[in-house]
Amino acid sequence: MNTRLIAVTIAVALIVTAVSLVGCSNSSSSPSPTVAPAVKAEDDASRAACLAAMQAAQTELHAWTAQGNTAQGAATVQELADIGAISKSLACPAGGSYTYSPVAEEFSCSIHGRVSD
Ligand SMILES: [Zn+2]
Repeated sequence: MNTRLIAVTIAVALIVTAVSLVGCSNSSSSPSPTVAPAVKAEDDASRAACLAAMQAAQTELHAWTAQGNTAQGAATVQELADIGAISKSLACPAGGSYTYSPVAEEFSCSIHGRVSD
């Protein structure tokens, strides 16, 4: 009795495993033609993160200058971070380098451009 129950349990387990394997192979084979869009989605994600970081830094910088502070000669993102104009140095997820334009009062990424682009 117990042996038969174990055998049935194993059989059910095997069926469930087989069904899930089929389900996995079906779901993994269908996205394969979309490899290129997946890479593009990653680019879009890093671009979005980059622009969001620049936007946050610009907001910080504007609040900082609104308190009467001036960036003076600080031209690089690191210098702005050093004088406390922004809370942390920016880091582009794609490895781009940032520049700050005091005239436009905005940052620019060498890869992703400006927030306003
Ligand atoms: Zn960037």
